[in-house]
Amino acid sequence: MEQHAIILKIGPYQKLSFFKRAYVNNSIVHSKNYRCVVKRNNTVVRYGSDDFGHIVQFVKLYKQCQNAHVCNTQNAHVCNTNCACKTPIYLAVIDTVSKLPLQLSTDRVSKAHVSNVVPVSHPSGILQAIHVEDINAVCVWMPVSNELCFVAVNVNKIEKE
Ligand SMILES: [Zn+2]
Repeated sequence: MEQHAIILKIGPYQKLSFFKRAYVNNSIVHSKNYRCVVKRNNTVVRYGSDDFGHIVQFVKLYKQCQNAHVCNTQNAHVCNTNCACKTPIYLAVIDTVSKLPLQLSTDRVSKAHVSNVVPVSHPSGILQAIHVEDINAVCVWMPVSNELCFVAVNVNKIEKE
């Protein structure tokens, strides 16, 4: 469940709301639940160091206040700027895929590996919540068979260092 993945990531939360698309590195990324998308599937992303997955849902939420007795009284200003409960957190819930130990053929002419095309499994159904800022590329998704898919990192996009 999404809630489980979210709690694993940030702990107790409050004021959760969903949204269906986000700007990431100048690209619009859609969640799977964004039904209006017809032409392009912008739901597959690379995140973290080198992981891939389908975005199921974007969520905005706040951490549960650790200082509720201060936050909710006349002394609220004490808590206003420093308390974690005041800062919105944006997460993407990801349906993870596994990288497959498959060697893609080397280009005999250029000797270059096809490093931006990665063999992966279909989505596992195992959900993971990540910070939206950890998404570093939008990918093209190419299902090949029941066992094999390819993701291609869109190299034209500006990427974070
Ligand atoms: Zn607070």
